[in-house]
Amino acid sequence: MNRITLVPGDGIGPEVSSSVVKVLKAVDAEIIWDEINGGETAFNKTGKYIPDELLDSIATNRVAFKGPITTPVGKGFKSINVTLRQKYNTYANVRPVKSIPGVKSPFHNVDLVIIRENTEDLYAGLEHMITEGVAESIKVITEKASTRIAEFAFKYAVAKKRKKVTAVHKANIMKISDGLFLDCVRKVSLKYPEISYEEVIVDNMCMQLVMYPERYDVLVLPNLYGDIISDLAAGLVGGLGLVPGANIGDDIAIFEAVHGSAPDIAGKNLANPTACILSAAMMLDYLGNSNAANKIRQGVFKVIETGKNTTSDLGGSSSTSEMTEAICKAIEQSE
Ligand code: ATP
Ligand code: MG
Repeated sequence: MNRITLVPGDGIGPEVSSSVVKVLKAVDAEIIWDEINGGETAFNKTGKYIPDELLDSIATNRVAFKGPITTPVGKGFKSINVTLRQKYNTYANVRPVKSIPGVKSPFHNVDLVIIRENTEDLYAGLEHMITEGVAESIKVITEKASTRIAEFAFKYAVAKKRKKVTAVHKANIMKISDGLFLDCVRKVSLKYPEISYEEVIVDNMCMQLVMYPERYDVLVLPNLYGDIISDLAAGLVGGLGLVPGANIGDDIAIFEAVHGSAPDIAGKNLANPTACILSAAMMLDYLGNSNAANKIRQGVFKVIETGKNTTSDLGGSSSTSEMTEAICKAIEQSE
């Protein structure tokens, strides 16, 4: 049995998290959930965006599944997601973006993995007004974090039998900060001669990805470019409802979809649960239960390919719970 912290989250979070719980039950994943909320829902109940109980639970369990969490816009609030990533030093954000058969999208041959640095860059939250009408935001890039994420990307490439790592940057303009990032990745790349290595400037990367996504394999990026390129890449394979993710540290991991709380469709049973369910499959891989993880992926892909029980973002007319039920059935039938 694995004890896992479950943070249902805000917006569509509770709906898609409940799909995860059902699917993990269908696959007999032997998980005990410690359900403790964070975010807006938690604030309204407890007066705290991140209750101490949640922090303790993640520290004890070392593994968490997290639904999307809303951070209030404006002054005085550091993003809760960013706070959690920094607190537990889950420095690598891993987002596999892969075409799924049956999904209507501009491309069918995408298979890339985004490795996003998760702890620094403009996300350090160092912002202030210099004087009236002039704001300054500080971008922090360190040798330590850049080398660490580069090592992670190359190790990942080796472990997953990938062929190429592409570093994404804007070092032509930010010569010192992105220049340091690039230097670090380049140095690490020399230790992995079996993996090809290239560097692409982030604006060009955007164009390359929407024209020739099949040319890319593992991408390693500083935090902000990683955030933006992730949504772009999600668009290549059918949208945010499909792309899973993991925040990995040395001994703590928090699994969550790339998408946010989608307030426009929250509470309507419309959200596509796939991204969260595939994030849970990544969690099972991490826990060493690849058998259950593969069963989940097969169930999800079968339902999407059959196309009868899919949500509206995939062109279907099913609800979140109907799609979830179909996935559970597909898993149970395969056993
Ligand atoms: P947040 O501030 O929490 O990130 P947001 O307004 O940026 O919220 P996202 O969750 O990032 O919203 O979603 C962006 C768009 O993608 C929205 O139109 C949303 O409806 C859609 N979307 C996101 N997740 C899903 C999903 N699981 N299923 C269907 N559509 C989704
Ligand atoms: Mg968003």
